[in-house]
Formats: sequence, C-alpha cells, structure tokens
Amino acid sequence: MAVKAADNPYGRQVIGLYRSIVHQSLRQSPMTVSSRRAFLAWQRRARATLRRILGSMPATRAPLRPRREVVETTDRYIKERVVYTTRPGVQVPAWLFTPRNVKLPAPAVLCLHGHSTGGKDECIDPKSIYNAFALRLAERGCVVLAPDQIGFGERKLPDGPVNYQVLTHGLNMLGHTLIGVRYYDLVRAIDLLETLPAVDKKRIGVMGLSLGGEMTAFLSALDPRVRAACVCGYITSHLHTFLDRPHCTCGHLRDLALHFEHADIAALTAPRPLFLDSGTADDSFPTADALANVRELRRIYTLFKKPKSHLGIEVHDGGHVIKCDKSIPWMLDRLNENAPARSNR
Ligand SMILES: [Zn+2]
Repeated sequence: MAVKAADNPYGRQVIGLYRSIVHQSLRQSPMTVSSRRAFLAWQRRARATLRRILGSMPATRAPLRPRREVVETTDRYIKERVVYTTRPGVQVPAWLFTPRNVKLPAPAVLCLHGHSTGGKDECIDPKSIYNAFALRLAERGCVVLAPDQIGFGERKLPDGPVNYQVLTHGLNMLGHTLIGVRYYDLVRAIDLLETLPAVDKKRIGVMGLSLGGEMTAFLSALDPRVRAACVCGYITSHLHTFLDRPHCTCGHLRDLALHFEHADIAALTAPRPLFLDSGTADDSFPTADALANVRELRRIYTLFKKPKSHLGIEVHDGGHVIKCDKSIPWMLDRLNENAPARSNR
C-alpha cells in the first residue's frame, strides 16, 4: 500500500537528521567581544575564512576602461550610462549620477539591486520594491553608481544550456562561487568610484536590498574602503531563512553557515557605521532576528566607544522593500560626518 508522503516515517527521519545537523553544525566561528583585541583578532580570522568561502578571485585588476554617456541632465544631477570592465572580457553596465549644485568631491553610494529582473533600473524606479533609493541619494547630493548584477538587467543570461542554476552550481564545482564573482564586480565598482574626480574617496557608502543587501554585507565586511553600509532585507539569520525554507540560490554558500551566523557577517563591518532595514511583513527575513542582531552587535560598538548612531535599524510595516525614511538620512549623515570642511573637529 502506498504511503502518503506526509506520513512517511523514513522521510521524516531524514528531516530529523537534517535538523540535528543544523543544530550541531551552525556557527562554529562566532564573534568574540570580550575585548577590542580579541574582537579584532577574531575579525582577521573571520575575514580570511569568508574570503575562502567566496572562492577564487583574480590576482590582478584589469583596466576599468569606463565608457560614459550622458543620458539626462536635471537641476539636481547628471545621469550617465557607464560601462566598465571588471575582468578581461567582462563589462558591467551601470547608472552613474553626479549631483549638481553641491560642493565636489561629494560622498558616493554604491546602490545594489537584488534578485530582480530589471536590475539597475529598479533602483531608480519609485514603483519598485527599491522605492527609487538610488535616485533619492543622487537628489540628496551623492554620487551614485547602480550597476547591473550578474543575471539581471542587461546582464541577464542569454537563452541556452548554461542557465542561472548551471552557472551557480558549476562555479561551486570549480572553487568559485557566483556570489564571489559578484563580490569581485563590486570591488571593481569601488575602484571605479575612486577614479572619479567628483567622488570623495573617504566617503563611500554601500546600500542594497535582498541579494543587494547580502552583497552590501559581504563587500563592507571585506573592503575597508566602504565607510558606511546599509543592509536592507537580508541580515537576520541563516537559521530562519536559507536553512529553514525554500529561498533563492543566492544565500547558499558552501560552509558559510558552518562558520557564521548573519550577526557575525555583519560584525565584519563593525565598528564602521552599519544600518539594517527590516519589514515586519517580510516573511522571508524575520524582523525579530534583525533586532536580535542589533542587540548583539551593539556590544561591539560599545566596546569601541562609537556613538549610538553608528549602528541603527529601520523597522517598518512593509514587506521585502526598502522604506528609505530612516535609512537614507542615516546614510547621508554618516557620509557627511566625515566631510572635509568638518574633518578637523
Ligand atoms: Zn537570489
């Protein structure tokens, strides 16, 4: 007699095995906050581990060779389409906004879309889940770079046998990861921002939602050029997201949850300014976990005697969206804190 899948005791045993592996294996390399010295030593080790997890990276940086074309000029900004090289044979199209009527060099924000078909266009669309956050930052005086991430916008994969799934799993089989390839693209995006005369290199922030939030977390964790990071709709926990329910492939990095919980990944940005954004109606990334992370991370900022404003969170009643009400002013405040005119305080 056929057994209904729901009643299958042998199948249930597998789920039991999985749950016990999750319980025993999760977070073997948690942050240490007993002292500044202990924290910094943990951070060095953890960064090396995270770099290994992201997979192979190119040893040398290819010339960026940016091609720029002005597409719109308004009272507040100049909008350009820029295409730059991140590795030999790989080019990234992006929107680049340069503010007008502000003192240059200005702060810059790298704005990252998530797993969204429209890619960079969604970051400037007020009707998208991104609430035009990139455009808002440009209108408020920031240089903004919003690139297409692999698989989306103009970087959608062509029809053929190597689809998103093959790309993801194939890279994993070869010591690379799709997230690692994306990470390197973003290192190159910061390289590009640093070449622009309009950008104050000491005031570069990163902000993104979902996969864009995840990439913000990894980039700021490993690249000290990031002075402030705003992670929207991501930093919660592996336990109640990717380990617990179907999710997109973007969060599945080999050994990541073995070593770190989300709080530890966020701790790699500390004590630089960090802001989280969490929607209470976002079932895929629970707010309770985001809040618990802020409580845990607070100990680091206290340890380093940083002002309370260095670590923040916007909890809103929306879903998987960027609200922008607190996050945008927070980002502007953090980047303007280090403005040259006030730097001698
Ligand atoms: Zn994804």
